Amino acid sequence: MTEPLIVQVALPVPLPHLFDYRVPLDVAVIEPGMRVLVPFGRRQSVGIVIRQAEKSDVPRNKLLALHAVLDKEGPLLDKPLIELLRWCWNYYKHAPGEVVASALPPALRKAKGVVPGIPSSFSLTADGRERLGQPQGRAPVQFAMLSALADGPLGEAGLAGIGSQWRKTLSAVMEKGWVVEEAAPPAKPRFAPGPSLLPDQLEAVDSISGSLDRFGCHLLDGVTGSGKTEVYMSLLEEVIDGGRQALVLVPEIGLTPQLIRRFRNRLGLDPAIIHSGLGAGARLNSWAAARSGRARLIVGTRSALFTPLPEPGVIILDEEHDASFKQQDGFRYSARDVAVKRASDLDIPVVLGSATPSLETFSNAVEGKYSWHTLRERATRAPLPSWRVLDMRQQASTSGLSNAALDAIAETLERGEQAMVFLNRRGYAPVLMCQQCGWSGNCGRCDAHLTWHRTARKLVCHHCGSQRSAPQFCPDCQADALLGAGEGTQQLEEFLEKKFANVPVLRFDRDRTSRAGVMDRQLEQVRDGGPCLLVGTQMLAKGHHFPGVTLVIIVNIDQALYSADFRSLERMGQMILQVAGRAGRVEKPGTVVLQTLHPDHAALELLLTRGYEAYARWLLAERQAAGLPPAGYQALLRAEAHDRAAAERFLDEAVGIFPRGEARVYGPMPAIMERVGGRSRMYLVVQGPARTALHRQVDQWLPVLRMLPSARKVRWAVDIDPQNL
Ligand code: ADP
Ligand code: ZN
Ligand code: ZN
Repeated sequence: MTEPLIVQVALPVPLPHLFDYRVPLDVAVIEPGMRVLVPFGRRQSVGIVIRQAEKSDVPRNKLLALHAVLDKEGPLLDKPLIELLRWCWNYYKHAPGEVVASALPPALRKAKGVVPGIPSSFSLTADGRERLGQPQGRAPVQFAMLSALADGPLGEAGLAGIGSQWRKTLSAVMEKGWVVEEAAPPAKPRFAPGPSLLPDQLEAVDSISGSLDRFGCHLLDGVTGSGKTEVYMSLLEEVIDGGRQALVLVPEIGLTPQLIRRFRNRLGLDPAIIHSGLGAGARLNSWAAARSGRARLIVGTRSALFTPLPEPGVIILDEEHDASFKQQDGFRYSARDVAVKRASDLDIPVVLGSATPSLETFSNAVEGKYSWHTLRERATRAPLPSWRVLDMRQQASTSGLSNAALDAIAETLERGEQAMVFLNRRGYAPVLMCQQCGWSGNCGRCDAHLTWHRTARKLVCHHCGSQRSAPQFCPDCQADALLGAGEGTQQLEEFLEKKFANVPVLRFDRDRTSRAGVMDRQLEQVRDGGPCLLVGTQMLAKGHHFPGVTLVIIVNIDQALYSADFRSLERMGQMILQVAGRAGRVEKPGTVVLQTLHPDHAALELLLTRGYEAYARWLLAERQAAGLPPAGYQALLRAEAHDRAAAERFLDEAVGIFPRGEARVYGPMPAIMERVGGRSRMYLVVQGPARTALHRQVDQWLPVLRMLPSARKVRWAVDIDPQNL
């Protein structure tokens, strides 16, 4: 008797392994990448077959048979994609089933979901054309449908315009033999000529397109407006023209209608769009179009990374430094790093574009691992803005804005120009700071800035874990002026609305612009060019050009200067340059005003006088001295529980069983945002000079961690290459 066939299946559950099932004899075809319906506990579950196996560790009489194979037309995920996902769950130490599920469009995670077929195209037959030559007669709607097809075939969308009964009409005219249905041929792109490229652009395009047939990492480094998108489009044209597919990943708020329009106009095709905000049906259609190879250009956010590409040609990541490329919960991965891995697997180039590259990418370019293409000039010829640093210690201010800044806004608006106030709100560890003299706390034991934990009224060192209570008065100048850096600007938006009541004050924040159409309407108003004041957060730093804006005020940078997070200076520099790059045009160059209590901060001065490259080199040297990423490697063990002591106990025990080796473990310490949703969050940092050693130690650690009784009392997770504390 032959052994029954066994398959290992990825099920969407948070367990660190695959599940074995027996394949019933009546199943004719089963391959890796197909979905199966299996019994799981008292329910059924949909999983993906990862591989076939000869035997199982599950005893034979306990081995359950799968219920059904759901994908009879072939695997949903091809072999390279399954291999990539396997790499991901090993590297990121996350449950395989959840990793695999994240690669499927939500509609296919259910048993009912089916892959849509190739869309239809309808065309007139000879009889149909003849009928069209005769008088309209008594069926005007049918006649209208024939007329609509007179100029050539149409898809369903094209026929739906005939009227609400279009499906009925369509079956009628098909029954009469006037119209036939065929699979729509893939859309033919029609490339529109682009501008003639500048020498730097040309060099980048030539170099990358000369190596389209093999893996290579390319950093496209150029300020906003230097023509990076034009470079992408020249490459896309070449890739698509060669019959291959291109995947373009953009940050979450970079996927703007403007960008899609640009691709459409220049390349003459509709990109398949994939992002998590899209309806399930639309997302499934885009995914299916990519999988069938019909979609030549796929544009999406982080999650689009796992789209099947049967004819891969190139992967492009725009604004590669953007934090939204890192998934921050569940399956925590870096879409940038996985994109590089995927390109290497597929033996195609990957292009990372940015005006302010992440230090990880920057150091790879410095070391020559990545090809480094620099665009030095602005294609628009608009000069870069000039800087002005306002010392807040010598300024009267209201709601966080100095009088000098208010005067500058008023003058700008009076000249009929536009101004922007950028509130730097997210992403930094809170810092307690004296508004009088600029004092902020330092750890006495190590050379680190202290983080302010407001509810606990403590100052915490996130380097060594030591804590002390927050002072009431400034230890340096004794003033009663201690405030969280950036606090006091909550009322700023309302204040500005009142103060500048005679011009439109447009607020861009997540709450406001999530309402349908608000964002578009406001952008429209900005484009109209009349005087207005833009007020907003990170949303203003990406994806848009505001050529009418000639004054930018940036508030709250101090929080970044003294944050405990070692990435905060990197993020601050990126943010300042990104915001500044949005403004101004040739005839009206912009001014950027930075408000700070620390006008002589060395990093700030370096950034403003010598530019990003010098700044990044300096930051990199600092990281190297401290062994911090990218000069070292990190993993976090995160734990959260209602009961802080439970989280602490688990992490303490975890420290006790950390395997010996090159990488060391530090902590436990409270997360920078310690309490979220009634839970206390804490973490350990694992840090070491070599990636392989660190991974080996973490891999040894995990199975033992899972067996700790204290592990069952907390929610915990590993975060490899973490971006936030
Ligand atoms: P980036 O992506 O670096 O911000 P873009 O590609 O969007 O830059 O270019 C900025 C502006 O300059 C766009 O309006 C673009 O059409 C224009 N542009 C880019 N390259 C050229 C060029 N070689 N000649 C003329 N205009 C260009
Ligand atoms: Zn002080
Ligand atoms: Zn310390």
